[in-house]
Amino acid sequence: MANFHELILGFHNFKEEYLLKEKEFFSRLVHGQSPKTLVIACCDSRVDPAILLGGRPGDLFVVRSIASIVPPVEKAGEHDAVIAAVEYGVKHLDVHNIIVMGHSNCGGIYGLLHPEKIRSERFISGWVSLASPVLEELEHEDPNEPAPVRCRRCEEGAILMSIDNLLSYDWVKERVDAGSLALHALYYDMATGSLNVWNAEIEDFEPTRVEDL
Ligand SMILES: [Zn+2]
Repeated sequence: MANFHELILGFHNFKEEYLLKEKEFFSRLVHGQSPKTLVIACCDSRVDPAILLGGRPGDLFVVRSIASIVPPVEKAGEHDAVIAAVEYGVKHLDVHNIIVMGHSNCGGIYGLLHPEKIRSERFISGWVSLASPVLEELEHEDPNEPAPVRCRRCEEGAILMSIDNLLSYDWVKERVDAGSLALHALYYDMATGSLNVWNAEIEDFEPTRVEDL
């Protein structure tokens, strides 16, 4: 899909295959949305959450940001698109779940690990620096960690940081404490084709398996 016209063709294929064949389903969607899940995913073209998680139109309220980062309340500006979308999902759509989904080979985390590569890019460097505490903690724990391990732990750590940051908003924390909203951390490893979920009991990500569902 390199060309614009291929995307237009893509829409017409979608119309033929879905819109026209499932008229009742799509006519219901015209009147409103009631997704139960909000997904915060990276902007990366390889990690579209609706495709990876098998979502249909209306299933997922999706927010995408570089490295799936959510800013903490004290750093979210008045014009922050990420947190505005989260606020809409939580307060207006009343979602039951928020998933923060990070992934392997993440360019945003690469930028965090190699700040010299994005030094002249004001908005990118400012955004990924929100995850600096993750890197600082890892450096403190083990200054000599091999680069691939550091990268992986940063990618995973940034997901957990975003979960923590979500809890810095009182309207998120209140719902989590009341049990009406659950937060989930997912990590998609595109090299192995594995979707890993955070397990708080073992304090690590572990592969999801159909047998466990
Ligand atoms: Zn990414």
